[in-house]
Amino acid sequence: MASSHHLSAAVRDIPDFPKPGILFKDITPVLADGKLFHDCITLLCATAGDQVIDKVVGIDARGFIFAAAVSDRLGVGFVPVRKAGKLPWKTRGLAYSLEYGENVIELHEDAVRPGENILLVDDLLATGGTAAAAAELITSLGANLIGASFFIELTDLNGREKMPDIPIHAILQY
Ligand code: AMP
Repeated sequence: MASSHHLSAAVRDIPDFPKPGILFKDITPVLADGKLFHDCITLLCATAGDQVIDKVVGIDARGFIFAAAVSDRLGVGFVPVRKAGKLPWKTRGLAYSLEYGENVIELHEDAVRPGENILLVDDLLATGGTAAAAAELITSLGANLIGASFFIELTDLNGREKMPDIPIHAILQY
């Protein structure tokens, strides 16, 4: 198992991307290293503890990479939260603001069911707008959101304060 230090060393800082003033955390070097990516998914799966998970919900687009791998490792289904206009069936949507812009995300109405235990997974927690909107969509469909797990958390942005009732886990904190 790689320590989180080794994972941290592989995350690349890109200043002023995609806009001036944003320090973008580039996770592609972690993905490109089979052992690091495997260990990252192991650590994300461990955030679920011994709770029963029915589905993993991942957020468009980098979140899909982590969430799909976590769902496969846990042996449960994967559900995408997507940017507006991408999902083909009946959707429920929410507008939210993020660190560098605004967005609308959508979830298929039948993707999570009342009473199902859901783990939300994304690559990075910044202001928390994205994850909080996804959390609201999930719970509005009657599912139990048992936790939200991130590869990276930017702690200065206090994103977890937008989800005070949800257990939040992050593998790396900056
Ligand atoms: P937020 O809604 O502010 O928590 O933003 C989270 C989403 O935006 C995540 O899905 C990230 O993919 C992306 N994001 C925001 N800030 C950064 C950053 N500094 N580096 C990389 N991705 C970011």
